[in-house]
Amino acid sequence: MRAPRPTFAGRTAPGGALGPIPSLRPYPTLPVPQQFTFNVGPAAVYPAVRQYLQDAYDEGWLSAPHRGERFTSLVRQAVTDLKLKLNIPQDYTVLFTGSATECWEILAQGLTPRRSFHLYNGEFGKKWFDYARALRPGTTDVQFGLEEVPDMGALPFVGEDTDLVCLTQNETSTATQIRETHILQLYNRLGGALLAVDATSSLAGLNLKFIKADVWFGSVQKCFGLPAGLGVLILSPRAVARAKEVNDRAHYNGLPAALSNMLNHQTNYTPNVLGIYLLSRVMADREPIKAVAQHLADRAQKLYDFFEQATPLQPLIANHDARSTTVIGLQGEPALIEEIKRKALEAGLTLGSGYGPLKNTSIRIANFPAVSDAAMEALVQFFVKEYVAA
Ligand SMILES: *Cc1c(COP(=O)(O)O)cnc(C)c1O
Repeated sequence: MRAPRPTFAGRTAPGGALGPIPSLRPYPTLPVPQQFTFNVGPAAVYPAVRQYLQDAYDEGWLSAPHRGERFTSLVRQAVTDLKLKLNIPQDYTVLFTGSATECWEILAQGLTPRRSFHLYNGEFGKKWFDYARALRPGTTDVQFGLEEVPDMGALPFVGEDTDLVCLTQNETSTATQIRETHILQLYNRLGGALLAVDATSSLAGLNLKFIKADVWFGSVQKCFGLPAGLGVLILSPRAVARAKEVNDRAHYNGLPAALSNMLNHQTNYTPNVLGIYLLSRVMADREPIKAVAQHLADRAQKLYDFFEQATPLQPLIANHDARSTTVIGLQGEPALIEEIKRKALEAGLTLGSGYGPLKNTSIRIANFPAVSDAAMEALVQFFVKEYVAA
């Protein structure tokens, strides 16, 4: 049972000058929390977040000034641990933003004086392209099929006037992933362009090779196991130099101001201090990414095999080289999908819905670090009980 929340009913303002303050409605009782969620974002948070939140309050972080020494040490520590645990090169710069969506806009404004090129196969890649094109009308794209491994050698982006080549490393909407070797192929034929990678649903879940791209970004409500409201933008020295050349001073979230503030471990506006605090706690407690990524890869393999062999669902992506390891996509008839989601919910398991055009014919399972093995075991047991013939 939750302790009843205090209300301000009947209280009078000090001195009584305002007269009695009308009583507030008591908070509604929250529904009993689901046992496990497999949503791909906002996704399951680490159980330790409960303690971190309490500590943040107790330690006074919720009102900590963002120019003070205490906050700047926190940022320094968060960035140090982030680089250490995720294998981010020391000479790369980490910036904090509000979301991955904001990163799309920052990159169009701050690294794209002329146009960008976008390679994608799903809704997030398309949204990025749409935002970028709205700001830079010459922006171009190539879409590829869900089962396809794009041929990086055959892409038409090479043109003197392409500033930024953009790809979505893990397309959350289609449960597909672009592997390291293909990113490398692309990186090797960039010419003067920079390579920017949306890794929102793989950053902190995969052992990404940061040296093979100039810009990486994501937000914390996916593989970091944290509540939403913070984005992480990672820039190579080449990207930092370009941002200074482009010199976008017309926007509050422009890169030059963010970069110069970050030299002092500050931000140019009051940041999400709680989010940064939680990030620093999670990173300090985390295993190194190599171990985390291996665990997720092994678990993904087992899950795909289980669903393929033992349930009426099939992997959404048949091609082993194209499917995601952090977002497990499964497909079935709409009626079956609906029934599975409903029965799972009754059993305390919230499954992720399909996204966009795949909404009715697929489900997605977050294979994120904060989803415990016990949760996965409960999921498998649910399917064994409900769908595997005895
Ligand atoms: C979730 C997601 C986004 C959007 O993240 P926000 O933090 O909501 O802006 C962008 N790209 C990908 C690949 C995502 O999975």
